[in-house]
Amino acid sequence: MGLNCALDGPSGAGKSTIAKTLAQRLGYVYVDTGALYRSIGLYAVRNGAAADSAEAVVPLLKDISVELKYIDGAQRVILNGEDVSDQIRTPEISMAASNVSAIPAVREFLLGLQRDIAAKNDIIMDGRDIGTVILPNADVKVFMTASAEERARRRYDELVAKGQTVVYEDILKDINLRDYNDSHRETAPLKKAADAVEIDTTNMSVDEVVDKIETLIDAAKRKTFKVIPFYRRAFYAVLRFIVAIPFYIAFNIKYEGTENLPKSGSVILAGNHQTWFDPILIAIRVKYISSFMAKAELFDIPVLNLAIKLVHGFPTRRSATDVSSLSRAESYIKKGYNLTIFPEGTRSKDGKIGRARSGVAFIASKCGVPVYPVGISFKRHLHFRSKITVRFGKPLSPEELKITSMSKTELREAGERIMSTIAGLLEDNGY
Ligand code: C5P
Repeated sequence: MGLNCALDGPSGAGKSTIAKTLAQRLGYVYVDTGALYRSIGLYAVRNGAAADSAEAVVPLLKDISVELKYIDGAQRVILNGEDVSDQIRTPEISMAASNVSAIPAVREFLLGLQRDIAAKNDIIMDGRDIGTVILPNADVKVFMTASAEERARRRYDELVAKGQTVVYEDILKDINLRDYNDSHRETAPLKKAADAVEIDTTNMSVDEVVDKIETLIDAAKRKTFKVIPFYRRAFYAVLRFIVAIPFYIAFNIKYEGTENLPKSGSVILAGNHQTWFDPILIAIRVKYISSFMAKAELFDIPVLNLAIKLVHGFPTRRSATDVSSLSRAESYIKKGYNLTIFPEGTRSKDGKIGRARSGVAFIASKCGVPVYPVGISFKRHLHFRSKITVRFGKPLSPEELKITSMSKTELREAGERIMSTIAGLLEDNGY
């Protein structure tokens, strides 16, 4: 599952800058599909094959393996085991990419890889035919354009900033030629999907474009959220309000980092755990309904059983990996609910952060959704009007958590990354 946003448009429309910024803001995985075509172009050039000749390029495909990896949040392209992310950015390879991309067998070759990534994660995928061919059912489709002169100017500035000596007219010519190639080829030509929203970025700033697409994504996510019946959402809103009152009276609660609050459901909120009311402290501020895991013993007490179920709590057994509890979490996320989870699995007695159990990383990866870290801090021994600080951090995407294989080591490391992010949000750790 996961929300898919397709971002198509001609070269230099600013897709990659926008997609990267947006993905970072939302904790989504950014997939730069141009890099895949570029790596095939590079391979053709290295092997002396004419990039515009299917006869020369197609026989090479059987020797090529392309992978996308995420190292420190940045996408890297791995061609036959070699990281070629930098080598593919030259003008020569841009043209080779444009040429090989017109060969149907090359497009076919890269199709599965792109669909697989999209099926598993919340993604922003940029390219030429994402909304039309690769992900015809994408939740959000955007077609970004800008005048050829503006695009040439942007690329010129970018290359000059990198210290390269370039001529503006050459770049403009190059862009026009690539536009022509991309829109006149027979297979998957560059064209706007019928249901895509067109954004002309000629006179827009990066922030304006990002905000606009974020609004479209929010609207798409709300659609999923609206699947939750109205009476449930209304009941939850009233309950949140009523429950908040005694907590605001009893404590001096400060919410920080609220600009990072999720703007929709289907995300994971992961916090440190010291008191029984941690889920409430989070729920007071996050508008979208959250389900949460509660220890199974609590469900043996009839009144608690009813109360916890009413607010979408479900039992988890701490002794072993509780498969049914993990699948409950997954089904809640699929229905548009958030999941609030305390990765340590148990309350910390001394305020120190413990180790994460593997559940949180497992669910994030299985559902392809971001993890929003929450740090809850207060001085030891709570009393009337104690100050409690609840800080929301920037979301971590499955890409940043580097979970690809679900191996024990990866899940453990992802858990550690989540806990250290939470630790960074606590008062003592210097936010
Ligand atoms: O986006 P970027 O400039 O890196 O893409 C390089 C080339 O790869 C483009 O000129 C285009 O011809 C091709 N491409 C494509 N389909 C995609 C992405 C890129 O044909 N989805």
